[in-house]
Amino acid sequence: MKFEIKLGAHMPISKGFDKVPEETVNIGGNAFQIFPHNARQWRAKLPDRKVVNLFKRNMKKYGIDYEAAFCHSGYLINLASPKEDVWKKSVDLLEMEVRICAALGIRYLNIHPGSHLGAGIDAGIELIAKGLDEVFKRTENLDVIILLENVAPKGSAIGFKYEQMKRIIDLTSYPDRLGVTYDTCHGFDAGYDIRTPEGVRNLLNEIDEMVGLGRLKMIHLNDSKFPLGAAKDRHEFIGFGHIGVDGFRNFFSFEEVRKVPWILETPGGNEEHAQDIKRVFEILEGVV
Ligand code: ZN
Ligand code: MN
Ligand code: MN
Repeated sequence: MKFEIKLGAHMPISKGFDKVPEETVNIGGNAFQIFPHNARQWRAKLPDRKVVNLFKRNMKKYGIDYEAAFCHSGYLINLASPKEDVWKKSVDLLEMEVRICAALGIRYLNIHPGSHLGAGIDAGIELIAKGLDEVFKRTENLDVIILLENVAPKGSAIGFKYEQMKRIIDLTSYPDRLGVTYDTCHGFDAGYDIRTPEGVRNLLNEIDEMVGLGRLKMIHLNDSKFPLGAAKDRHEFIGFGHIGVDGFRNFFSFEEVRKVPWILETPGGNEEHAQDIKRVFEILEGVV
């Protein structure tokens, strides 16, 4: 049972992309997420061939499936920005991120849909779809899927309901290049109560009705420091927050959930993530 689960964490790239597969295995994982560049900067460049070759060799050596390897977009990108210069820079950087993913052979790039900054959800959704289309048009020959991550309903963030994801997907000319992520902390912040069977059923039904469950390619596995609906976006170690051990045990009991790779974005670094991975397997004992 243990081996059918794809589980890992957001990994540092400070030692180079090529070190990520080994570090993933060292913390007990078989899946990972990385930033394709320094996430706090607008600058990004393609990795050199030597690093790419080493990375691909290590993916094979450490047995990591490309279906369980993800990139997470940088923090500065905002496709919903009503400021034209920010929107254009966001499109340019997202294009570069798609190219970095393609160079590494990584098929999935996770993004936060964007924040409308007061312009309104409808205007934001239109700008997001327009930005995505521009990026897809510029990278038409590349096999990279962009995953829209559900966010906490905080500030002017768009994407806290799958109905908003549906509207984005419906507006683009490249629906086949879009998927979705479910972040358990952000979802809990938005009122999705995965501690109960009905809560998970409703969530899965909503995803299926709005975008299709086949589009769900990743779960960000985070506990929440704050109660249901708090909209605070503060991640906690698995089992130590308001979702809790029993909440995650319930969530894990759904086959649709276990089929999708789980990526931890809990506090700390590799050591803490190794602890969280152990805890997830403990919670999984006896679930199926
Ligand atoms: Zn995220
Ligand atoms: Mn997340
Ligand atoms: Mn978060």
